[in-house]
Amino acid sequence: MTEAKPAPQPIFRKDYRRPDYTIDRVDLRFELGEETTRVHATLTVRRLDGAPQAAPLVLDGENLRHVSVALGGRELSAGEYVVSPTSLTIPAPGAAFTLATVVEIRPQDNLELSGLYRSSGNFCTQCEAEGFRRITWFLDRPDVMARYSAVVEADKAKYPVLLANGNRVATGDLDGGRHFARWDDPFPKPSYLFALVAGDLRCFPGEFVTRSGRTVRLEIWVEPDNIDRCAHALRSLQASMRWDEDKFGREYDLDIYMIVAVNDFNLGAMENKGLNLFNAKYVLARPDTATDDDYDGIESVIAHEYFHNWTGNRVTCRDWFQLTLKEGLTVFRDRLFSADMGSPAVARIGDVLALRTNQFAEDSGPMAHPIRPESYIEMNNFYTTTVYEKGAEVIGMMRTLLGEAGFRRGMDLYFERHDGQAVTCDDFRAALADANGVDLEQFGRWYSQVGTPVVRARGEYDANTRSYTLTLEQAPPRGRTSAELLHIPVAVGLLGPGGPLPLKLSGETAAGADTRVLELRERSQSFRFEGVPAAPVASLLRGFSAPVELEVERSDADLARLMAADPDAFSRWDAGQELGRRVLLRLAADVEARRPLALDRAFVDACAKIVADPGLDGSLKALALTLPNERLLGQHQPVVAVDALHEAREFAVQALAAALREPLLAIYQSSAPQGPYRIERAEVDRRKLRNLALAYLVTLGEPELVALAVSQFHLADNMTDSEAALACLIDHGGPERDAALAEFHRRWHKDPLVLDKWFALQAASSHPDTLERVTALADHPDFNLLNPNRARSLVGVFGVRNQHQFHRKDGRGHALVADKVLAIDPHNSQLAARLVAAFNPWRRFDPTRQQSMRAQLERIAGQPGLSKAVREIVDRALA
Ligand code: ZN
Repeated sequence: MTEAKPAPQPIFRKDYRRPDYTIDRVDLRFELGEETTRVHATLTVRRLDGAPQAAPLVLDGENLRHVSVALGGRELSAGEYVVSPTSLTIPAPGAAFTLATVVEIRPQDNLELSGLYRSSGNFCTQCEAEGFRRITWFLDRPDVMARYSAVVEADKAKYPVLLANGNRVATGDLDGGRHFARWDDPFPKPSYLFALVAGDLRCFPGEFVTRSGRTVRLEIWVEPDNIDRCAHALRSLQASMRWDEDKFGREYDLDIYMIVAVNDFNLGAMENKGLNLFNAKYVLARPDTATDDDYDGIESVIAHEYFHNWTGNRVTCRDWFQLTLKEGLTVFRDRLFSADMGSPAVARIGDVLALRTNQFAEDSGPMAHPIRPESYIEMNNFYTTTVYEKGAEVIGMMRTLLGEAGFRRGMDLYFERHDGQAVTCDDFRAALADANGVDLEQFGRWYSQVGTPVVRARGEYDANTRSYTLTLEQAPPRGRTSAELLHIPVAVGLLGPGGPLPLKLSGETAAGADTRVLELRERSQSFRFEGVPAAPVASLLRGFSAPVELEVERSDADLARLMAADPDAFSRWDAGQELGRRVLLRLAADVEARRPLALDRAFVDACAKIVADPGLDGSLKALALTLPNERLLGQHQPVVAVDALHEAREFAVQALAAALREPLLAIYQSSAPQGPYRIERAEVDRRKLRNLALAYLVTLGEPELVALAVSQFHLADNMTDSEAALACLIDHGGPERDAALAEFHRRWHKDPLVLDKWFALQAASSHPDTLERVTALADHPDFNLLNPNRARSLVGVFGVRNQHQFHRKDGRGHALVADKVLAIDPHNSQLAARLVAAFNPWRRFDPTRQQSMRAQLERIAGQPGLSKAVREIVDRALA
């Protein structure tokens, strides 16, 4: 019999207390072994001013086998301390002392991938958020910052490479074929930034000369076979280092910067001081194995982790409720960087699409939380799109309000005030406000409010006074009755008959730029523009200036006009998306009413104009011609009409393909590759548009069009074109699909990252037999539940990205994902918790589907021994 665990208790932000003790130094020694690993830790501890003299020292620990503890060099006997499964307590240890502990751990059994674990035969660590306590007894909280040294000892033949944070200060041989390396990190850091690696790895080296003339050695460590896939990561790192100097005046601070690629990793990557650990997916790229999107992903994750060196490491979080302090800010910084490296409009569209699809859904479901949460049970459940992506939007709004130079002044002051400290989101906001002499009090509500606010806009033209009055109103998020008033920047432009109008608000003497940032701080505010020659079309929320839902009454014709001519590339795309959404929702209503389907002529014409527009690059065209996905569409229905939406969208895609067959075919034929693969803007644009054309054409099912995909699949010298063709064939089905899948598997089955694509493409397919195939794939010999990338590529993609198949009315999709969650949970609860989130939107569906999802949630909730990570998610979903 398994005993019921006591209900895990939430931790509240309001309960934050500074610790009684801090740790100034940590000296670690690791005896890495195949069976057991011994960790020796000597902590230099100090009681903080104001703490009671008799305060006990309570160190965190988890899954540690306690061996010994010594206080001030004297071994303690059993009665002098208390060990529990999660703590080591020393009653009244004194004002300043050293504490030396020895524990044993078993990295080879650690499938949670938190703490010290093994991946592909190597040792590695993951300590954020609370993994360090799985390595040794510690005050495992980010406001305890210490200087670390680490001696790593291991078998020399098996683990020739020994790495940890900071500088390598000694190496040497030991008895029994073992060797060691000692690393010192001169910068005080919280325990979550500790890292260690031991393994058989190869180094792809490089260097960077900082603006003050120091040469930094760069090392990318990978498995021997992958040494030819590191060049892009290195280039991205060098570009990030230069960019942070140029844009924020931030220089790297150690003499060495290392990145290690790991095959088993729960998230994207980790910014450990001087020794980043990366999911291999965000390091390894070669033209034949990685797509254009993979190249972009690597560039942005490399930048993200590098930028953490200042926003996260030098200045860190006081407690985990402040996570967005480092994550929202660092995502914002990596986005600025990506925009500078490539196309700002393309980058912005991608980010907003992801925000609306994922974050808006999270923010209106059972896991909704402010970017700075008020409570959590399992911190790992709060590495969310809300904390990261909405958090980045909040930073972006402050930059919009302060301007680029004002934002930089604020950042400078933030670093000046807080370098070496563990601080809060309020400290950050205060630095921005103080550096600019502005008030960000009302703005601060963005940190505590839940949900996506609604902004309503209404415009009125007065021909007599040639003025246009725009009224903006803010309303609480849908489904919520009240909300405090926010400070919302709304970027606006007006389109006149002859193009964009220079804007002059009443009271101003001269007209200014075409885009104006209006600050909405009241429930309702009106803004009067003067000198407007004719009734304009308003372009609202340009660049998506605030993470809100915009409601505005406008005609299809107005949207078509913006789609054709808005000078703001983002808003141009956005207008097209809104038009497409209307068209698709009307079609879905037709499906449900069993009316005959016909694609809106005006929409087809608008798309034809996009295809023909010489002023748009291929990437923007491809984005404009991609219809809103089914999940986004469902968000705009009171009850998600799963089947009708799918049928409507499939119909629209085919109808558009039929209507635009000739121009799409012309694009396809005229934009064949002219030489070997090159990763550069013009080429990426060309591939994006050509592959979009192919995707439309193949849906027509004509043999000669399907043959285009077959031949592209065979001839492609790069993964972008190969994967795009395979995706078309998988949706098409039939013998072409089977042949291509078999060929792809034969060629790539030994390459985990590429094989993940093979699973993911099948899980995402719109083909009606997808559920059967996914079920079979879950039993495929290459499927592995315990590898996070592999599990996500099948179960995650199916549960989250394939609305139509996951939510099959017979409930088999739900059962499949629930089965996998239950199978994974005992081994890797963090991974299971992410996958189970597929059930979060269950209340959005019809009674049959609700019933089916709820039954699965209850089945999971009733599982004896369920992890607290999964329990927190399902309890919230069922509450
Ligand atoms: Zn981060």
